[in-house]
Amino acid sequence: MPDGPTTLITGIGELVTNDPSHGGPLGLLTDAAIVLDGAHVAWVGPADRAPDADTRLDVEGAAVVPGFVDSHAHLVFAGDRAAEFAARMSGQPYAAGGIRTTVAATRAATDDELRARALRLVTEMLGQGTTTVEIKSGYGLTVRDEARSLAIAAGLTPETTYLGAHVVPPEFADDPAGYVDLVTGAMLDACAPYARWVDVFCERGAFDADAARAVLTAGTARGLAPRIHANQLGPGPGVQLAAELGAAAADHCTFLTDADVAALADAGVVATLLPGVEFSTRSPYPDARRLLDAGVTVALATDCNPGSCYTSSMPLCIALAVREMLMTPGEALWSATLGGAKALRRTDIGHLTVGARADLVVLDAPSHVHLAYRPGVPLVRGTFRAGQASAAFSALASAFGSDPEESR
Ligand SMILES: [Zn+2]
Repeated sequence: MPDGPTTLITGIGELVTNDPSHGGPLGLLTDAAIVLDGAHVAWVGPADRAPDADTRLDVEGAAVVPGFVDSHAHLVFAGDRAAEFAARMSGQPYAAGGIRTTVAATRAATDDELRARALRLVTEMLGQGTTTVEIKSGYGLTVRDEARSLAIAAGLTPETTYLGAHVVPPEFADDPAGYVDLVTGAMLDACAPYARWVDVFCERGAFDADAARAVLTAGTARGLAPRIHANQLGPGPGVQLAAELGAAAADHCTFLTDADVAALADAGVVATLLPGVEFSTRSPYPDARRLLDAGVTVALATDCNPGSCYTSSMPLCIALAVREMLMTPGEALWSATLGGAKALRRTDIGHLTVGARADLVVLDAPSHVHLAYRPGVPLVRGTFRAGQASAAFSALASAFGSDPEESR
């Protein structure tokens, strides 16, 4: 039984499926077509063998890629830190404590303000091809403010992450252990109903290994799955902790020992690289090649946040990964799609195979290589998210918005 009106997208010059049965990790098909059946992919193959459908879109030689999966973003916040960015670009170093500026603004904001700002960022992301985004709390740092941050995030994505352990708030400066008690106690109780994941900023100036282990273990006991901010600003225990606890992902991974790389590979922890942060803080990039050569699964994400990286653009991150981290254009695209899906332990997204969610991006380009080859150029012509066409395909969007019987 079809689960909605079917759409045939044809004239695809290059289709990236991420299905290795078509050859290579990207599973590239040329002169391809794809049929969407409501929210899912129903057929993939050569255009000259495509079945009929209710509606038809000819993309005239464009490349089509899976929707980007941004597995690391901080979108619920208020305030503006452009002045801090300008200061950093004038030579001041980045330190973890700047988070507190955003915390003060977030606590002072209304729910409606926080929701509107987060929605604007999610919309901005979709316009750049991101069809799945993970959203963390972490700028409230009180029971009330973390819980409402997660309630807002849960209205925007199922991939919500409790990050009460982002930084120790000023009121606990003399009692960091007391704050860990709060994060693993009353705050967790209030946040767990809205969260899928638990995260901790394991870094000098934030939370050490023992505190991070306590936070992740408490979250796991409440049914949340662990992920971690690890080894961003210097060597540290975060990656080993991720391996020890079976975290889905260790994010940043900029400063790794050989033992850290081996632990990621052996434990099957995804290394999520966030090159927008290094770009925006003028810091050394993580060594993607070392991870790939060791067999580690690498994801790319934006880390969109008001302090260290205020970009929402996955295409920018792909371009940076290629230019600055020596990834090939194909590796970077894979990491920004299927890699992100693996970092979120999702099997229904990040690839275009029969049965997958119909999340895809039509590029204003003949090849996915253009994402890195033409940095900064808006190459996303339009998207489908769970089969819903973006405004660029308005005729289809109106077909989806009406009764399927009437649209025939
Ligand atoms: Zn982050």
